[in-house]
Amino acid sequence: MQKECTCGREMNIRLRTVIYQNKVDIENVPIFSCEACGRSEVVSTVKPVLSSLISNLGRKPEKQLLYFHECSELSFLLVQATHKERMNDPLDKIIEERINELLDVLLLAQSLGDLPWMDDIRKRLSQISQYTCSI
Ligand SMILES: [Zn+2]
Repeated sequence: MQKECTCGREMNIRLRTVIYQNKVDIENVPIFSCEACGRSEVVSTVKPVLSSLISNLGRKPEKQLLYFHECSELSFLLVQATHKERMNDPLDKIIEERINELLDVLLLAQSLGDLPWMDDIRKRLSQISQYTCSI
């Protein structure tokens, strides 16, 4: 996943803390940033997840800290990929393991008949399939 900056250089993907309304810190948001001109922008595939997270906060959110990797699979995968012990693992392997993990959890949710949980897992799996198509 790479993107060209308006200045012509390549932008790198990073995890950053985004601060909303000076009150809510959202950690581990995937951002494209350009080292040459300092431009940065939120990775477009995570925008829907980020905006639904923000809209759930309401108009006057309380001071709080949120972890974006808990609701965004791309963020989760990037956090995994930057762990020291996983530095040498290809991203494909990390993604495959995450998919297997989610499928196991989906099976568990199904056996418990927990519909909201199943729905949550399905959404996570579909997030991953979006990224794997765009990589
Ligand atoms: Zn630039």
